[in-house]
Amino acid sequence: MTNHSFWYYCFFLFVITLARYFLIAGGAYLLFYLLLGKSLANRSLHLKPLMSSSIKKDIKLSVLSAVVFAICGAFIISEYSLGRTLLYTGLYKYGLWYLVVSFIAVLVLQDTYFYFIHRMFHQPLIFKWMHYGHHGSKEPTPWSSSAFDLPEAIVQGLFFVGVSFIVPLHFITLLTALITMTVWAVFTHLGFEVFPNSSKSYWIGRWLIGSMHHSIHHSKYKVHYGLYFTFWDKLLGTEDSNYEKQTHTREF
Ligand SMILES: [Zn+2]
Ligand SMILES: [Zn+2]
Repeated sequence: MTNHSFWYYCFFLFVITLARYFLIAGGAYLLFYLLLGKSLANRSLHLKPLMSSSIKKDIKLSVLSAVVFAICGAFIISEYSLGRTLLYTGLYKYGLWYLVVSFIAVLVLQDTYFYFIHRMFHQPLIFKWMHYGHHGSKEPTPWSSSAFDLPEAIVQGLFFVGVSFIVPLHFITLLTALITMTVWAVFTHLGFEVFPNSSKSYWIGRWLIGSMHHSIHHSKYKVHYGLYFTFWDKLLGTEDSNYEKQTHTREF
């Protein structure tokens, strides 16, 4: 990898992070709210009309978060250049199977990290300055997916900094995990339930977090802290007791 200055990487990664946000969140908004909104009205999770002011706030916080994520990314690349991380580039260094296993491991680790920090963010003493911004939209839209207050963005960004020192990861695995995180966050903040109602009878709807699952978190606060999987919510009793009985129409 060619060596550039720390600030060069910051700028480059800021542009990429922001482009990724506008492309994925903006694309989902365009598709679900502007093009298909009326035909998907029966799958909408929104009870009130959308507020353009809360969308603007979400976008502002997301731009701020992109600055933090870019700095974290630039730090990871700088440390990689100095040979201090466990990131690698040779596809066969640990075997091709390891690319898949390490990708799943990152998702499980991130889900666990997120569950516990997210639960901590909801403690009354720190909620206001750590997590209030993300809950600015009571009814999330794709624009809410990266809307974090500065301290929350730092804590979220630190996960990938930490993991690049702890778990050997190919750059492709890291990139795939970052794209998965972005797409998943847009999906869980979509405001439309995409899973069919019958999905809760199968593992996909029972164990994966979808749009309705996370919408319940935005309206009730005290349940559903997970990111990708419902595992921790089920194990630690923070799953809404009616969740698996509910259909996509809002009953919460
Ligand atoms: Zn959320
Ligand atoms: Zn929350």
